[in-house]
Amino acid sequence: MIRYEVEDEIIRKYAVVAPVDVKAIIRDIGLTYVERDMPPGESGYIEYDGWTCTIAVNANEGPQRKRFTAAHELGHFLMHRDLLRKQKHLDRLFDEAANRNTAAPLEYWHEVQANNFAARLLMPKQTVEQEIASGNNTIEGLARKFDVSRSAMEYRIKSLRLERQLADDPDRAPAEL
Ligand SMILES: [Zn+2]
Repeated sequence: MIRYEVEDEIIRKYAVVAPVDVKAIIRDIGLTYVERDMPPGESGYIEYDGWTCTIAVNANEGPQRKRFTAAHELGHFLMHRDLLRKQKHLDRLFDEAANRNTAAPLEYWHEVQANNFAARLLMPKQTVEQEIASGNNTIEGLARKFDVSRSAMEYRIKSLRLERQLADDPDRAPAEL
């Protein structure tokens, strides 16, 4: 039985302790999570027919990518499921085709929304700030704590404008090479 909650409720309820267990959230609200042998470049997909919903991720990708993909697809379910009833939505999130990812009926901004949701779920603002305040103030350390890739954490830190609170500010030029 699918529970139709909104994205902010999901974040408030589940994104409390890092790392967030995305698979458990997907299953807890009544969706099916599977890992499938998919071609390189394909990250995952979501299928929803109005009654059941399956979120699939590429079994051949690394654990952090799988977590991000699963969170992205969960975002599509929470925000865009009515658009998904007609056809499954396939994502390429990490390769050079990522910005051409969009497949009708979804548009580019739906992908941006799904990525934003994934970032907010996996790296909640408050938890990231607390972690930095407690002394975990490098991209590497934060990425490990939240079980995300370094690039995902770097992007999140920039969008939260927390660069200056880090010991390894990604924008700071190296003093010497
Ligand atoms: Zn997508």
